[in-house]
Amino acid sequence: MTNMGRRLWRIAVGVAVMLWIGVFSLLIRSYFSMDMLSATTAGRRHLELLTIPGQIRLTTVSNWPMESEGVRYRVKVPSGQFVIFGQRPIYQKWYFLAIGVTDGSARISDDAGKPITVTFRTIAIPLEFLLLPLTIAPVWLIWQARRRRLLRTYRLAHCLCLTCGYDLRASPGQCPECGVQRHLLPQGPK
Ligand SMILES: [Zn+2]
Repeated sequence: MTNMGRRLWRIAVGVAVMLWIGVFSLLIRSYFSMDMLSATTAGRRHLELLTIPGQIRLTTVSNWPMESEGVRYRVKVPSGQFVIFGQRPIYQKWYFLAIGVTDGSARISDDAGKPITVTFRTIAIPLEFLLLPLTIAPVWLIWQARRRRLLRTYRLAHCLCLTCGYDLRASPGQCPECGVQRHLLPQGPK
């Protein structure tokens, strides 16, 4: 791998590890609290992103009868205060690898208190499903650390330069290959 490729790979692994920590925290959190992000766009479209225990659910509602309230974040939503779509059971319209999609309609009240029927679609994704592919990153990091430790042990045991692997038995001063000073390296068995 080139230096550039290696750097990009390291960034990708770092991002994946952070995402893994984020999704794992959200998974644990979903069992103790409910987080909800909602937004109403100009086209009378209402979006709702919500966590329920073990899942994240995205609902889109068309013909939303209320005024736009922008993006709102709520936590531990008290029930009955306003409409929540993501808490309804998923009667799968489509189901694949634990991801469920459901279409439905609900009667809600508009700003004037007049009842109106809206249609919605909810997509439910188990948080474990997002976690699984991301798990490759921490596993790769652990595997790399183990590989580095084994290589170091091998080089120490065979009197090889710890930096480049050059045979140092005939070079007591410094490594003729990479120039690292011998006294800077931990002394291996003679
Ligand atoms: Zn060296």
